[in-house]
Parts: sequence; structure tokens; C-alpha cells
Amino acid sequence: MTIKEIKVKSALVKSRLPSVDYVVNCYVGCGFACSYCYASFMGRMVGRSVDEWGSYVYAKVNTPDLLKKELEKFKNKGKGKKILFSSVTDPFQAAESRYRLTQKCLSVLADFGFEGNVSILTKSPGVLKVVSLLKSIRNLQVGITVTAADDKISRYFEKFAPSASSRIKTLELLNRQGINTYAFVGPLLPHYADEVGNLESVFKSIYKAGTRDVYVEHINLSLYIKKRMINELKDTDKKFWDKFYLSQNNDYQKYLNKIILRLVKKYNLNLLYPDVIVHNRIKNKNIKRYFF
Ligand code: SF4
Repeated sequence: MTIKEIKVKSALVKSRLPSVDYVVNCYVGCGFACSYCYASFMGRMVGRSVDEWGSYVYAKVNTPDLLKKELEKFKNKGKGKKILFSSVTDPFQAAESRYRLTQKCLSVLADFGFEGNVSILTKSPGVLKVVSLLKSIRNLQVGITVTAADDKISRYFEKFAPSASSRIKTLELLNRQGINTYAFVGPLLPHYADEVGNLESVFKSIYKAGTRDVYVEHINLSLYIKKRMINELKDTDKKFWDKFYLSQNNDYQKYLNKIILRLVKKYNLNLLYPDVIVHNRIKNKNIKRYFF
């Protein structure tokens, strides 16, 4: 793993994500190295290829100082604005233990008295280390990405990320501390998503952890992601490959959506985005060509 320090020009970046005004990414790169990660394109900012994703982290060391200055431009202490940590990196990956950039940025928001909404999205129990800081920020919600309830499944495409069980536990501990939480169920991993028992165990474990708000997302298989996934899948049973073709199919996604909506209702959860999030759909006949 290569770790470097860099300086950047801004901390708050305008977002194109629904209902998010700004994103703060204190790192370029992510040591969790998930093979489906859509953020792997970010390497081009630092001269790295998509294939190198997971092998480098650039710490944007001046982010907290920049954030402090940039917050001054907000009227009414940022009321009505929403900031997300983070959209293209994990804010509590291992590098955070060394640089504490996310932690420092959260302190800046707390000191400023930010009155907008703050959302944190991570796979890491590292967020538990800053619970008292989280409590000092108004309107904050912590999201944990949950792709499976079974550690063996989560190890498949997320070899270096915290285990599925530790993420569910993190949700539970945050809830016990009175932190407002959500679960990000995504991407729906094609090799297990249509097995109802697997999906059911995900939603059941979220419910048991005490979290009620969820986002659900279909997998994004844009060309650059597809290439990395093919590498990952090349030694696996062909039946997995078929699931990947299907994952981009409109009818199949609708079929999965029905299962998800039933489970959301069964476990009394709130789907925060009005539907399961989808990135791109292609027609049936093009599926194999699309994937290869
Ligand atoms: S944790 Fe998130 S940002 Fe990091 S590699 Fe995995 S999907 Fe990408």
C-alpha cells in the first residue's frame, strides 16, 4: 500500500447525488479495495489506473483547514444544506487512524455549529472511536454499508473491508449510543442477491441492530468496473457469471425490487430513496455483449 500526502484546493465539492449538496472526501483512494467500487475512476486525479485501486491512498492533509474557511460562506450556519462524508472513499479506512482527517473535519463542523445535515457513510467500525464527536453535531446520521449478513459472502468482493458481521455490530453499537443511523444495502451482489434467504438475512440483521432507515442499490457495471469484476470472477463457477449478466437486466431488477420492497415492509424499514437505486439498464439481448 502506497500512502502519500497531498494538498488540495477545496474541501467541499458540489454533489450530483440526490439530496446531497456537498461531499467531503479526505482521501483519494481506499484501502478497502472493493472490487465493485465505482470510485476506482478517481485514480486519474493522481495519475493512477483503475487496476491500481486499493493499492494507494493519498491523504488530502489540508482538508480540515480548507473546510473551516469554506464553511464561512454558508448563511444561517448551513441550515438546509447536506454534507456527505464520503462519496468516493471510505472516511474511516485504516489511513484515518494515522491522519484523522475525517475526525478533524467533523470537529470543524461541530465548532462551527453547522445546522445543516451531515451524513457519514462507511464500512468501518472505526467510526465508533469518535462517538462523542458525532454526538456534538446536530442533524447527523451515520450510514453503514451492508452487502451481506454472512462474512463468507462479504469476503468475496470486499477482501480488505471490515467483515459483514462487524458492520452489523457497528450499527447496533451506534444505535445503543443514540446515534441516528441508516444502512446502505449496496451494491446488491449478483451471486447471492436473488436468493431470498440471503437478502432476508440482510434486512433482518439491520432490523435487529435497531436501524430503520435504508438505501438499496443495484450494482453499477460500467465498463471500467466490469473489467475489474471479470478479473475477480475468472476462476469462479460459470453460474456466478450468469447472475452478473442478469444483474443489469431491467426485468430482473424489477423482480429483485419486488423482493426488496416486501422485505422492507416485513421488517418495518424506511426506504429513504423512493426506489431501489439503479445506475444503468440494458436490454436483454445485449447483456452478454455488454458484460464481455
Ligand atoms: S469501501 Fe467504499 S470507497 Fe472503499 S473501496 Fe469499498 S466501495 Fe470503494
